[in-house]
Amino acid sequence: MTQSLLDETHDPSATSWVESANAPDTEFPLANLPFGIFRHDFEERPRVGIAIGDRVLDCLATVHEGLFSAVDPAVKAALTSWSLNALMALGREDARKVRRVVHRLLRADTAEGKGARAVAADVLASTDSIGMRVPAEIGDYTDFYASVHHATNVGSMFRPDDPLLPNYKWMPIGYHGRASSIVASGASVRRPRGQTVARPEGPSAVTPSARMDYELEVGAYVACGNRQGDTIALAQADDYLFGLCLVNDWSARDVQQWEYQPLGPFLAKNFATSVSPWVVTLDALEPFRVPATVRPSEDPALLPYLEDATDRTRGGFGITLEVWLRTAAMRIAGAGAERLSRGDFSSMYWTLGQMLTHHASSGCNLRPGDLIASGTVSGPERGSRGCLLELAWRGQEPITLSTGETRVFLQDGDEITMRGWCERDGFRRIGFGECAGELRPALADVPGASSN
Ligand code: CA
Repeated sequence: MTQSLLDETHDPSATSWVESANAPDTEFPLANLPFGIFRHDFEERPRVGIAIGDRVLDCLATVHEGLFSAVDPAVKAALTSWSLNALMALGREDARKVRRVVHRLLRADTAEGKGARAVAADVLASTDSIGMRVPAEIGDYTDFYASVHHATNVGSMFRPDDPLLPNYKWMPIGYHGRASSIVASGASVRRPRGQTVARPEGPSAVTPSARMDYELEVGAYVACGNRQGDTIALAQADDYLFGLCLVNDWSARDVQQWEYQPLGPFLAKNFATSVSPWVVTLDALEPFRVPATVRPSEDPALLPYLEDATDRTRGGFGITLEVWLRTAAMRIAGAGAERLSRGDFSSMYWTLGQMLTHHASSGCNLRPGDLIASGTVSGPERGSRGCLLELAWRGQEPITLSTGETRVFLQDGDEITMRGWCERDGFRRIGFGECAGELRPALADVPGASSN
């Protein structure tokens, strides 16, 4: 596949007529142009949007203004759709064409830009008068476990002498998650009730989870998929990925501990998963590709289907990731959020390409809009651990906050915000926006005892 895909859309000197997109600290400069689905306050219909500075380009309105005359009818139809699935299904090449057209439309020094600027009031939405949605109809959601630091930390809590299971370095480990309960950033999440035990052998009782946690992850949306029975070669994996987002895989650790053997997580993770609403395309991320993690020489050699020279040299993404906590007490005091961790997505043991290729290696068909998440992103240092289970080491090392509060797991009213961005000399910094959600108290109802 892959010669460099850098083009004029990555030019750091290009400026936009949308002034806020030229601010050095914006997450959405002209070089980013992430896709999302939004809804105006005045109507129900969701629309495709593209973030630019503190504004959103309304693709439906832009098509109506005749500003997308350069794109094919199928692309135009996708841009006026209610979700991103149609655009994702068209594949990377069409997404790249749209990116180039939009780049010209939003540039300050092009004829197309002058035309768009003349109808700015019609084609630009203000972010405070819209709501963001989950950007795709996600048919299937799969969650991996690709950070060896996370797997080793968690494994060592339960199996101190043998933290990594024998299969870990042979293949990306994952499980099929729940798509129906994926919510967009900003939605609050209710503490689930579930079976928990005081002793490993039981008895169990239904209680609100007392060990609520977040997991910092990166998600990838599938572009065009593969037919059932077909596989995806690792060398082609990039062509099957549309773009990335941030994911919070909310987890009820006490429920998980009782239920996870022998078939893996179930109710401990199926009640809610939060995603950041903007999908940062692989083209926007092109300058930030990095080599895959170098496997130590004592690790098993990769099986041929998980080995590819291009994946080795640029299979990773250099994305700085942070988790911030704002407690109810901080809100009452008017204090801002406090950072819990900072890590980097380049520390993962498996690449997204390897996860995708392994997923389809059985002949499993992946479809446009499917979501693949990386698993908790934890680095080697304590400050880069991507969940509270690791940061507070299973409750043994409580975290003290600036308010004097302590945390081993989340309390009701805690708001978790994840952020991610890419930086490299010679290029504009681009960001992912927020993946935020507040944990609300459990319902008083006992499951199954509903009054209606
Ligand atoms: Ca997870």
